[in-house]
Amino acid sequence: MSLAQGRPYLAIPGPSTMPDRVLNAMHRAAPNIYEGALVEMTRGLYPDLRRVAGTAAHVAIYIANGHGAWEAANANLFSRGSKALVAATGRFGIGWAESAKRMGVEVEVIDFGRAAPADPARIAKVLAADTGHAIRAVLVTHVDTASSVRNDIPAIRAAIDAVGHPALLAVDCIASLGCDEFHMDAWGVDVMVAASQKGLMVPPGLGFVWFSDKALAASQGADLATPYWDWKPRAVGAEYYQFFCGTAPTHHLFGLRESLTMILEEEGLPHVWARHATLARAVWAAFEAWGRGGDIALNITDPAHRGHSVTAARIGGGGAGRLRKWLETEAGVTLGIGLGMALPEDPAYGDFLRVAHMGHVNAHMTLGVLASMEAGMRALGIPHGKGGLEAAAAVVAGA
Ligand SMILES: *Cc1c(COP(=O)(O)O)cnc(C)c1O
Repeated sequence: MSLAQGRPYLAIPGPSTMPDRVLNAMHRAAPNIYEGALVEMTRGLYPDLRRVAGTAAHVAIYIANGHGAWEAANANLFSRGSKALVAATGRFGIGWAESAKRMGVEVEVIDFGRAAPADPARIAKVLAADTGHAIRAVLVTHVDTASSVRNDIPAIRAAIDAVGHPALLAVDCIASLGCDEFHMDAWGVDVMVAASQKGLMVPPGLGFVWFSDKALAASQGADLATPYWDWKPRAVGAEYYQFFCGTAPTHHLFGLRESLTMILEEEGLPHVWARHATLARAVWAAFEAWGRGGDIALNITDPAHRGHSVTAARIGGGGAGRLRKWLETEAGVTLGIGLGMALPEDPAYGDFLRVAHMGHVNAHMTLGVLASMEAGMRALGIPHGKGGLEAAAAVVAGA
């Protein structure tokens, strides 16, 4: 007998749970892409995409995943041979750096490892040494989905300004938009990238790039921009090109309309952030209790440096890998692999997992995951401290 029958829950950090309302909004006949309801509705998406990012900047929607959004930002920020400084705090920071490098950008990476946030002072030091201002942009991940670290974006902005360097600040918010508090304009961010399938709760397929007037001006001479990825016509061009440079991602747009309404009009963005923060604290509380009686630890020690949409953790002796398998086959819950923490052939690979609490997730879903994890640890004989569920319930009760 397995207790996995019933509605499965994919608790990995993207694709996240999609609300039935979003899926239902997508279930329709092909719309006219030249005029009428779709075009009208699309016009209204842009102001809401600005609101969710906290900006008055331009926004381009691409038919792409997060890797595509990275390339879109790279293509407009850089020319062949121009320079990027990447502050990497996990697999996704490294991934953005690799993407830029493959496109012919000269990339300097400051690697802060897999369990610590970027240190603004080290970024400032590299920029201060760049007296010729060769570095065009600093690329940083807001929440690195692999390590679950959350970087202090205003502090990084302040560090760039303190040394008087003109580099643009570009931030990957793919795992954090609609989960963690973020204010593009107030925090001095020039370029921000996101994708549809995480906090925005829409199936994978839409990539977004927000870019300030300053970034638009700086992009005028960038020679990596190819026709599809070029953001200039998307900022100022005729609507058909401005929107999608071809056929619109019709059904995804209807799904996005529904999700933005849920986030902005119904729950309200500050409440969305607060819900994620509370569910994150519930997960951390359980792990902390489990860790008092076993080889179990959260990846990021300081809560101030943890993202609110995903939690990376270690369960030693291959416990994480065994637990993930048990949860999928016996409880109907799929947790994330320990991405970038160890290579698959490394015995330590089985020591890491990630619990997502991203997007369309509520208390019973997260508490259900934690209770299932505790059942799995019992079933598998994985030593763990007592009181994990009680601690998580206390967080939810106190919210
Ligand atoms: C998921 C993710 C990506 C990659 O997005 P894909 O849609 O898988 O290409 C990049 N950065 C961060 C922070 C992510 O969470």
